[in-house]
Amino acid sequence: MSTFINATLTSALIAIALGGYILFANAVSHTRGLTDGPYVFLTGQSASIQWLCNSTKFAKKLARNALPFTFNECGLTADIRPPAARSSQLVFEGDFPVAAVSDFHGQYQIMHDLMINNGIIDSQGHWAFGNGHLVITGDVFDRGDRVTEILWFLYRLEQQAQRQGGKLHLLLGNHEVMILNNDLRYLHSKYIDTSKILDIPYPELYSKHSLLGQWLRSKSVLVKVNDMLFAHGGFNPELASGKRSLAEISQAFSSHLVKAELPSPRAGFAEYLHGSNGPVWYRGYFKSREHAPQATEDEIDSLLAHFQIKRIVVGHTTKKRVEASYGGKVIAIDSGIKYGTYGEMLLVDEGGLWRGTLSGEKKSLNFNP
Ligand code: ZN
Repeated sequence: MSTFINATLTSALIAIALGGYILFANAVSHTRGLTDGPYVFLTGQSASIQWLCNSTKFAKKLARNALPFTFNECGLTADIRPPAARSSQLVFEGDFPVAAVSDFHGQYQIMHDLMINNGIIDSQGHWAFGNGHLVITGDVFDRGDRVTEILWFLYRLEQQAQRQGGKLHLLLGNHEVMILNNDLRYLHSKYIDTSKILDIPYPELYSKHSLLGQWLRSKSVLVKVNDMLFAHGGFNPELASGKRSLAEISQAFSSHLVKAELPSPRAGFAEYLHGSNGPVWYRGYFKSREHAPQATEDEIDSLLAHFQIKRIVVGHTTKKRVEASYGGKVIAIDSGIKYGTYGEMLLVDEGGLWRGTLSGEKKSLNFNP
């Protein structure tokens, strides 16, 4: 009974906020059955947890020393524990398999099926990739409606991987940067409603006081794993001719991540890196009428030589499958998961490079399509 009154009151408050009876009716139909969270905020010595179950807001407070805490309410689960120590390591080398996937855009089920069918996780959702490295090149946020579930899933998987000698690298995409900077153009309407019912502006759910917000702020824009360099959009050849190092790019990008938290506006190299030629927006490896001219093979070679790599692996520009271009010097791994019907991942082992399909078939990657 009190749940019903709560939900009704919340809807009524939304109606008052929006100013009318008609909007009240919309708000009710739109928010019926909304379940989302948890959102965890760390303040002083306590952790406050908020979530929505069937459009009703719930909250719980814990002492910081009560973490780790296994959250399991209303079908939502989260392993709430302090984030792993922040690391500035950008280069990883070793004898291990590598998998890479990109642009989940809130499509939890496809992400999950891809990872199970390609041996990254077991049927319980636990890390099963041993000492392998899984690289996710950004864009978990926006478009779809299961973003929070993906974030908590990856949060747990990262720590499981670490304990088993493997590694999960979650890189920032333009949609992570957009959310952190209050650019909500592509947000699914579910999260607009979540934000209204919780009465917290959506970017505040990922503020530097939130657990997932702190975690996202610790994520890199690039990583080099063996002979491959990963980023969401790519590396403009100007970075090679300007002799910019990976550390310099990463540092300038990360230290200017959230505009509202900067003492002065982004300028110079940091502004360049956050613009259309920077690593989360660049599309110059692919033919396009609207964007910058396509990089020449010589320019790609200059990037490979400068960063001492064999390949660059990127998401952001959507393809039907994992695709090689420039004879395998560039691999595109945004396989259209955002459409909600199919997706692939890149697999790299001692046998070579492969397309891991949604059903778990291992298909050879054609370098000369
Ligand atoms: Zn993108």
